Amino acid sequence: MNKQQILTKYWGFSSFKPLQKDIITSILEGNDTLALLPTGGGKSLCYQLPALLMEGTALVISPLIALMEDQVKSLEHRGIKAMYFESHPKSLPLSQQIDNCIYGNYKVVYTSPERLTNDLFLQQISQAPLSLIAIDEAHCISEWGHDFRPAYRKINKIRSIFPSLPVLALTASATPKVVHDIQSELVFKEPKVFRQSFKRPNLAYKIWKTEDKYNTAAQILRHQKGSSIIYCNTRRQTEQLAYFFNQSGLSSDFFHGGLSADDKKKKLSDWQNGFIQHITATSAFGMGIDKADVRTLIHMQLPESIEHYYQETGRAGRDGKTANAYLLFHEGDPQELTNQFLNYIPTNQELTATYKDLCNFFQIAYGEGVDQVCILDFDHFCERYKRNRRKTLYCLEQFDREGILSINTIKEKYIRMEAKCSPAQATAFIEQQTTDAKVLEFLMRKYPYFFTESTFMAPSKVCTTLILSKDRFYAALESLQQLGYLRYNVPSAHFYIIPQTPREDQYTLKPVLQNAKILFEQKKVKIDAMISFTLNTKLCKRNLILGYFGDTVQGVCEKCSSHSCRKELDSEQDFEGKLMLLLKAQPHSIQELKQKLYFEPMALQIVLENLLNDQKIKQNQSQKYYWTHE
Ligand code: ADP
Ligand code: MG
Repeated sequence: MNKQQILTKYWGFSSFKPLQKDIITSILEGNDTLALLPTGGGKSLCYQLPALLMEGTALVISPLIALMEDQVKSLEHRGIKAMYFESHPKSLPLSQQIDNCIYGNYKVVYTSPERLTNDLFLQQISQAPLSLIAIDEAHCISEWGHDFRPAYRKINKIRSIFPSLPVLALTASATPKVVHDIQSELVFKEPKVFRQSFKRPNLAYKIWKTEDKYNTAAQILRHQKGSSIIYCNTRRQTEQLAYFFNQSGLSSDFFHGGLSADDKKKKLSDWQNGFIQHITATSAFGMGIDKADVRTLIHMQLPESIEHYYQETGRAGRDGKTANAYLLFHEGDPQELTNQFLNYIPTNQELTATYKDLCNFFQIAYGEGVDQVCILDFDHFCERYKRNRRKTLYCLEQFDREGILSINTIKEKYIRMEAKCSPAQATAFIEQQTTDAKVLEFLMRKYPYFFTESTFMAPSKVCTTLILSKDRFYAALESLQQLGYLRYNVPSAHFYIIPQTPREDQYTLKPVLQNAKILFEQKKVKIDAMISFTLNTKLCKRNLILGYFGDTVQGVCEKCSSHSCRKELDSEQDFEGKLMLLLKAQPHSIQELKQKLYFEPMALQIVLENLLNDQKIKQNQSQKYYWTHE
């Protein structure tokens, strides 16, 4: 079979997306290849398809366990044999997983970069019949990428084990510095670079200053047809804003990481199917979401970098038809972004203390801890050590990034519980034979330390064995708690923590502390770039983005909100005429005008000022504008 036939047979696609074919050909010819395609550009296919055409197994290095899981599922679904190296309490021993990889005839095998820093792993994997090495999200290799991950630096180790294999590096965001770093870190032989332009010709970037974001956003949505995504900073804001939109007669719902899996699925499909038109979301929303006809995208705050901004706006107008990306900001936002960022970056002292607390929490002794699986009740931890959640999470991410420990989010929530009665009291209660009693009996039997210490329990286990619905089970727990037999709590965030280096405090943390400073400065540079992008009202926004990514710039986009590209302020056609009609009919407050007309905040201000100067309109006692002339 050839490329085209494979594409149709396994993926059901009729044609390649731009550059996919060239990239695949380059890999099949054995070239080291760098693929720079925007988000949604179809990078996965660039290694998955050649994997099918080549003898052996493609090894894919990917930074996120969750993404690997999804990819493996979707490959299996297409009938392609795939696996990833996993580490959680239920997974097979690693050596067995490696054996599977060597003898299992897999076409695609995923691994985290941290694995490749382990010599024993490398030694064993050297027996695998690999066909190519793909590095997804390759910008992680560079300190200048927005997600630097030191373990990526060690990828060249595996290159030296398989010197003749072609390497394919893939990323969506590659500034010239990043491109350079990728090629030199991976020791590209004769680099072939395929770069799709960062131009999104159908996308209009509109940066609007407004003192009233909620109403401005509602105004925009009222005016624009089609689906939209509204990015918020906090979960609470997604909820508030969705409520506000609904109150204003706009069909909307919110989406964020705190929702249950079922809720997420429902909301997502309602939005994708068009039952809900607008979705307010935190920035996590969008990864892997494939809705082509998003017409409007609104940022309610400044994103933390141009990379983020570009990726997020890239979720609008994937079908190639016109789409608008609005960024709403007010006076104080740039300062707020800077503060917020500075406030949650932990100091070296905080990094050190968090590490120490973590080791103590899990009672890890000096020189020990490697590969011990620990379940972290995040809330409990933060509460016990009086730590800020966001900062603590940032610390954990740093440790993970530097390969000191690995953190995996636990999908199923574990419940922490402890007995509040004696075994005799429990036994007496169990005789009742009610459902509640059966639950208590199960807990007693299944968890040997139930009466002596607080214990973690997986609800699904109990529910499956006792044939109970989750709701019924939680009701039972609640009533057992009310009756004083036990206490339980459902933590809101949970991780498996698996130390990757033995505890040595200062020594272990050295790379984290060193890199923390560099990361800090680079983050600051990125934030500053985002701020100056926002505040620059003169130059074409598209060109500012292209310039940032080292893309070539010609002409201006003639669509964005900059002076370079617009002849007049953005408002609906015959804005002044419509305004006049409204004010002639009856006095209107600004609020009321916002509900009836579409205009950029500045536009109204200018038109009103002119009309006031010409004395065509005046303000009455309740600050409403009215028409004075006939
Ligand atoms: P990236 O990693 O570049 O962001 P993905 O590999 O996740 O992009 O692909 C984005 C979407 O495009 C996926 O839903 C994928 O199935 C789809 N896709 C990839 N290649 C093609 C193609 N040739 N034709 C149609 N859809 C494609
Ligand atoms: Mg991808």
